[in-house]
Amino acid sequence: MRVPLVAGNWKMNKTIAEARHLASELVPSLKAISSVDRVLCPPFTALLMVHSLLEGTDIGLGAQNMYWEESGAYTGEESPLMVAELCQYIIVGHSERRAYFGEVDASVNRKVAAAFDHKLIPIVCVGESLEENEAGQTEEVVSRQIKGGLSGLELPIVSGSKGNAFIVAYEPVWAIGTGRAATPKGANAVIADVIRKELAGLFGQNVSDEVRVLYGGSVKADNAAEFFSEPDIDGALVGGASLKPDEFIKIVEAAVL
Ligand code: PEP
Repeated sequence: MRVPLVAGNWKMNKTIAEARHLASELVPSLKAISSVDRVLCPPFTALLMVHSLLEGTDIGLGAQNMYWEESGAYTGEESPLMVAELCQYIIVGHSERRAYFGEVDASVNRKVAAAFDHKLIPIVCVGESLEENEAGQTEEVVSRQIKGGLSGLELPIVSGSKGNAFIVAYEPVWAIGTGRAATPKGANAVIADVIRKELAGLFGQNVSDEVRVLYGGSVKADNAAEFFSEPDIDGALVGGASLKPDEFIKIVEAAVL
């Protein structure tokens, strides 16, 4: 039985004061929900403050990006050592990083390896663009991203299982921030027929069955339950709606088994 996980990706939003306000509104309600793993991913400048607000709770903290080297002359980057001081999770390969900042499967792979070395759980994002979707290339693109991002890696055992070492988020690019979500059945089919199939090829059927795969792309309070009722969707990576406390809490509540 995979424990559902809902992560809020705040993207490049919220000053420290605004982040304090948002996290303070979220924490009491999120704390009360125990059967779903909840993760907040604020921007770097707010990580330390949100970390302090999450102390004593089992709500996870994630960063939105990192470099793979531990230290050095990499101006503007944060290292896995630094991220691991505060976070349990790290988002890797988000489509916005791929589109605007040159992230490619090879860099995703190095970041995932660095995450494993520093006991971080990567949330590895994959998904096809609108053009790729319309050209019938979803399977090819998502397979390539899974293989490129995850091949050649030794999975660490986390909480007793290799299947807990990482999380995949299937985020069709055309559904992110557009208000045009994929259909739950369509997303489930990509996860079951492409993502879990590739994971089984890379790591074996047991790991593939255990890894949590999230859907991301315009998840809202009023469509979340439909996604979560699909057998291969284990939660959500939520962007825009994670900035609205009531909305995000409803999404997490919808994931309760
Ligand atoms: C995301 O940022 O990963 C995302 C899915 O955004 P949104 O929920 O706004 O579509």
